[in-house]
Amino acid sequence: MSWLVQPRLVNEPFGDPGVYIDFRFGRRALLFDLGDLGPLSAREVLRVSHAFVSHAHVDHLAGFDRLLRLCLHRPDPLHLVGPPGFIERVEHKLHGYTWNLLGADSVDFRIRVEEFHGDRIERAASFRAREAFRRADLPPDRLPPGTALEDEGFRITAATLDHGTPSLAFALRETLRVNVLRGALAGLGLPVGRWLNDVKRAVRVGAPDDMPIAVPGSVPIALGELKRQALRIAPGQTVAYVTDTAFHPANVARIVELARDADQLFIETPFLEEDAALAAGKRHLTAAQAGRLGRQAGARRLIPFHFSARYGERSDVLAREAALAFAGAAEDGRG
Ligand SMILES: [Zn+2]
Repeated sequence: MSWLVQPRLVNEPFGDPGVYIDFRFGRRALLFDLGDLGPLSAREVLRVSHAFVSHAHVDHLAGFDRLLRLCLHRPDPLHLVGPPGFIERVEHKLHGYTWNLLGADSVDFRIRVEEFHGDRIERAASFRAREAFRRADLPPDRLPPGTALEDEGFRITAATLDHGTPSLAFALRETLRVNVLRGALAGLGLPVGRWLNDVKRAVRVGAPDDMPIAVPGSVPIALGELKRQALRIAPGQTVAYVTDTAFHPANVARIVELARDADQLFIETPFLEEDAALAAGKRHLTAAQAGRLGRQAGARRLIPFHFSARYGERSDVLAREAALAFAGAAEDGRG
C-alpha cells in the first residue's frame, strides 16, 4: 500500500532546516519551514500549495523570496502558516519590493497568511498581486484546537514550543488509506468509476457500515459489504517536524503528543550532549535529547537535522548520538 506523501529534507543536515513533502499524485507539495530552497528545482517549488513556518529566525524564512518569485505568475494561491506576528513579517517582506508593474491584468496570484497562536489559527490576511500585495485582513478559519489545516486525505496539526520565542512544530497525519481491490469488485458484478471516490471518502470520514452506497446501473450496496469484500483499509502515515526548541518539561510534553506514533520524525539535533549547557543557552535540543524524545513518542524512524557548524569536522557524531538515544542505548540512564 502506498502513502499519500513522501517527505525529505530540503538541505543536507548542516544546511538550513526544512522538509519538502511531495504528494505521490496530484502535482502538489507542502513545505515545513522556508530556509534556503536552493536545492529544490523550480518545478518542485511551483508545486508548493502550503508552507508552514516554525518561527522567523532567518534560517527558517530566507527562502520566502525564491518561493514568491517563482509563484508570482501562477494562478494557484499560496498559503502560509506561522507564529504570532507572522502576517506583519510577510507584509514587510512583500513591501520590500517595487510592484508598479502589477495591476488589474496581472495573474491573480494570492497569498493567504495565517497565524497560529497557542493551539489555534487566530489571525488571517490575504495579499493579492493585482492589488500590489496590499494587505486585507480576513476572519480566521475555525478549525479544531491543535489543527493548522484540514484537507482531503490529511490534516496538519501544530504545537507551540518555547525557543525563547514561539516556535511551531508540525505533523502531517494522513487519514485512512483506502485501496479498491478491482478483482473483488468485478466478482461482485460492480463497475469501476467515480462512485468509488465517494466510497473512499465515506470510509475516511467514518461513515457507518449500514450506509447504502449508490452504484450506477446497479442496486445500492451497504458500505460495510464493500469494506469486507472489495476494499483494503490501512492507517495513514504520520510525518512530524520538530525544530528549534528548548528542552524542558512543557516542551517535552507537547513534542511527545504532537509526534506520537509518527512514522517519520524529523527532529533537530544541533548539539552534542557534552555541550548541553550551550544547547540550553540557545534554547535548542541536544542529539541525545532528540533521540529520547523520538523514543518517548513511539516514532518509527528518526531523521536528525539542523547540525551546528561547530561539528563540521565530525559530521557523523550528532546522527550517531541521536540514533543511540533513539534505540535506547547507554544515554537513556542519564535522564
Ligand atoms: Zn531559531
